[in-house]
Amino acid sequence: MQGIIFDIKRFAVNDGPGIRTTVFFKGCPLECYWCHNPEGIRKCSVNIVKTVKLDGKTFRQNEVAGKVVTVKELMEIIRQDRIFMDESGGGVTFSGGEPTFQADFLLALLKTCRNEGIHTVVDTNGYAPEKVFKNIMPYVNIFLYDLKHLDPEKHLEGTGVSNDLILNNLKFLIKNGKSINIRIPVVPDFNFNSKDISAMLKLLNSYRESIDQINLLPYHTLAKNKYKRFGMKSSMNGSITGMKIKDLKDTKALFEERGFIVKVGG
Ligand code: SF4
Repeated sequence: MQGIIFDIKRFAVNDGPGIRTTVFFKGCPLECYWCHNPEGIRKCSVNIVKTVKLDGKTFRQNEVAGKVVTVKELMEIIRQDRIFMDESGGGVTFSGGEPTFQADFLLALLKTCRNEGIHTVVDTNGYAPEKVFKNIMPYVNIFLYDLKHLDPEKHLEGTGVSNDLILNNLKFLIKNGKSINIRIPVVPDFNFNSKDISAMLKLLNSYRESIDQINLLPYHTLAKNKYKRFGMKSSMNGSITGMKIKDLKDTKALFEERGFIVKVGG
């Protein structure tokens, strides 16, 4: 069994509890205009030829985003940090792109981790058939679940897909007692206004007992260079600057007032 990934981050501390190895799957069915990992959207690998000037000379460099790996190869890398995972209460996080977009590969990895007693987190946008979640659910300790917008039209505008499937899958995981951290990318010209935040608050409040934590992820523009590097067109609104942690102080307080544990960032 093999799949395609575009990065592995060792010693990650923001992708679930403890020290983790985060594996970034390549391919995502959404196309959020603020995406910070644009090299992860297409499922195939991408070759980029870069021109670098040094001491007046021009050099050509190849950069590849995407590597095909087997479950066996990936597990060998994951196991290297086992001692740090065990000591810190960490494990492995499957992120992306969208990990459920390579459902069989993800399931094979999750089952192997479970057999070896490795804690697992799946960081998902929720956009996959319900049966994918049904299959992986028994092998996932925590879901990091994105919630981007509750209005289907707005969701479609910002991400290229409607949100029905995402909201239904969230309900499904909650109904099945899964441990869930909600991640809200807060984007100024998309969902950062009192109407949209109140709608999210209302929905999440109805699930309050099932949600362990909410992460508010402030919009930033650091990925702009990546778009250039990978020859991709960015649809980010050039006039909107990145947000600061303090910009989310009031929003954080609103969620905390309802009893949620809230973190800004990661
Ligand atoms: S769901 Fe995540 S990875 Fe996919 S396009 Fe949106 S921000 Fe990027």
